[in-house]
Amino acid sequence: MRKILVVGNWKMHLNTSQASLLVHRLQERIAIRRDVEVVLAPSMLVLQPLSVQIDRRKFRLAAQNAYFRDEGAFTGEVSFTMLRDLVHYVIVGHSERRHIFSEDLDMIRDKVAASVRNEITPILCVGETKRERSDGETKQVLHDQLMTALHNLTSREVGQMVIAYEPVWAIGTGDVAKPDQIEEIIDYIRGYIRDVFGPKASKELRILYGGSVTPEVIHGFLDVPGVDGFLVGGASLNYYSFANIVDAAYKWQREKGEV
Ligand code: PEP
Repeated sequence: MRKILVVGNWKMHLNTSQASLLVHRLQERIAIRRDVEVVLAPSMLVLQPLSVQIDRRKFRLAAQNAYFRDEGAFTGEVSFTMLRDLVHYVIVGHSERRHIFSEDLDMIRDKVAASVRNEITPILCVGETKRERSDGETKQVLHDQLMTALHNLTSREVGQMVIAYEPVWAIGTGDVAKPDQIEEIIDYIRGYIRDVFGPKASKELRILYGGSVTPEVIHGFLDVPGVDGFLVGGASLNYYSFANIVDAAYKWQREKGEV
């Protein structure tokens, strides 16, 4: 059984004191649970203070982005090398990076490679836009995103990473994907990994769903076969909502007799 992973992506929200307050509240509300891994992805600015504040039995940290070169004249950037002692994960290829900051497939491939090289687990986001879905291009888009991003990785490296299926039309819109749509795409992703990297990598790889996840809708997603957790944006900024999502995941696992 793969461990359930719940990642809160705070995006460009919360200054240092607001972030510290949210962690304080989450620490009160979330118990130590060995079988649910909870990851916080705050802004770059607050990673360092939070690394001192968090109870490491409850939380791990992720960066929301990093640059693929290890060091050099790259004004404004932070490298994976600089982050390696601070975070367990880095989110790579989030649709906001792809669409607002024009990160292309090659840039995302280089970031995944830099993450693996620096022994940080990448959380690779993939997903189609509304137009791509309505034009029937979803699987082709995912194929291209996966093929480029995983280029040159070994089966072992792929098995250890995390892929988040985030349909772009579901991010921050309240427009959640239906369970059967999620199941179909997760099956597709696992099938792709099995065909290219073998059954072991496909079995070990964790696949998350992301897109307007809230405590109100989480139950519909927990039963989707192959979903190993969630990437949560808006709802992770509210301690009550985020803790309820973590609780729901834990209870679901316990009811299934997996804990
Ligand atoms: C995200 O930022 O990855 C995300 C899924 O956001 P939201 O939950 O707000 O849709």
